[in-house]
Amino acid sequence: MQLTSRETAAKPLGISTVTVHAGEDRQKPGNSITDPIFCSATYTFPNTQSVIDFIEQKQPREEYGRYGNPGEKVVEKKLAALDGGESALLFSSGMAAIVGLLMAKLNAGDEVIFFDECYHRSREFCTKHLSRFGVTTHQVPAGDYEAMEAAITPATRLLVSESPTNPHLSVVDLERFADLGRRHDVETLIDATLATPYNVQPLTEGVDYVLHSATKYLAGHNDLLAGAIISTAEKLEPVRKLRGIMGAVNSPHNLYLLERGLKTFELRMQRQNENGIKIARFLEQHPRVEQVYYPGLESHRDHEVARRTMRGFGGLITFLVKDADWRQTGAIVDAVRIPRIGPSLGGVESLIEQPLVMSYYECTPEERKSFGIPDNMIRLACGIENPEDLVADIEQALESASL
Ligand SMILES: *Cc1c(COP(=O)(O)O)cnc(C)c1O
Repeated sequence: MQLTSRETAAKPLGISTVTVHAGEDRQKPGNSITDPIFCSATYTFPNTQSVIDFIEQKQPREEYGRYGNPGEKVVEKKLAALDGGESALLFSSGMAAIVGLLMAKLNAGDEVIFFDECYHRSREFCTKHLSRFGVTTHQVPAGDYEAMEAAITPATRLLVSESPTNPHLSVVDLERFADLGRRHDVETLIDATLATPYNVQPLTEGVDYVLHSATKYLAGHNDLLAGAIISTAEKLEPVRKLRGIMGAVNSPHNLYLLERGLKTFELRMQRQNENGIKIARFLEQHPRVEQVYYPGLESHRDHEVARRTMRGFGGLITFLVKDADWRQTGAIVDAVRIPRIGPSLGGVESLIEQPLVMSYYECTPEERKSFGIPDNMIRLACGIENPEDLVADIEQALESASL
């Protein structure tokens, strides 16, 4: 027996039951409890007739490593079950997944509309590269559904947003977003990397594609890169075909690490949600903090939507240091002892960064202003460390650095 879906069981299975067991055979080669790592670039056939049978009957077996690996199938089944989708498609990184989906779905003359708060490289791909192939990108302010609707033309093929967004943590009303697409016969894509399937289920709200950088919470250990798209098998078919050509696939070892990371996904999310809200509340009352962006706080612009649609609010917190220039802000980052300085989020180790320096250093002040990145902004990605230790550490950092 294989557990493949949370819904086919008499009662929907819990998240950890799914991540530990879904997609795996009960009895494995060598009677091993863990899945073997198939270190194989190619797969053999016993004779010519079996090659012909494989092609004509579309038999479910492997052929060549760029088209699939047994470990990839296991992880894809887990991810599809987690998001309540029919099918999942893994890529070698989150960016490979985004690029793969957009390249597979868009043709010259098509238009795509983005909410403008988005991962820097997604925006860069659309504005600098899709444009070279005759695809037009429109950006509208995050959360402005009227502006998005007004930007739709007969050439629009895809509406795209993150939720929550990075680094402002704006939360999209997924039902409203999906409805906008449906009414205009345009497909919708949500990058739910920051939310994870623990906190939101965009497909059940009617969104067509949900995308994750599995590098972050899904793998959870800051030790691999991967990306995933979940949707119907039919919608994913052209993307799967293009992936086979792009070759943006995971190595067998990477797939094993991702499968292993997923086993503790729910436990990690519970702690990261807990750390997120505790640290956000601590920061909000601290006299050296000007503003905290965290959707779990009543003061957040999208708190109502977040409270209604999210189970937890995640481990990412962005805040502004009161009356600090960029050097003083950097001094606070440097005074922190537990979180490490680095990009990324969602792993067991907390990470801290100043967006101005880490991701937007080469932008002009005008560009940073347009992206909403002030000099005194800090982004903290909570790991699974104990919340009281993290709070005490951030408190000493805020108080030690002289402003
Ligand atoms: C990290 C990230 C990506 C890119 O994923 P990679 O795995 O680093 O390629 C895309 N979207 C969001 C929201 C991210 O945080």
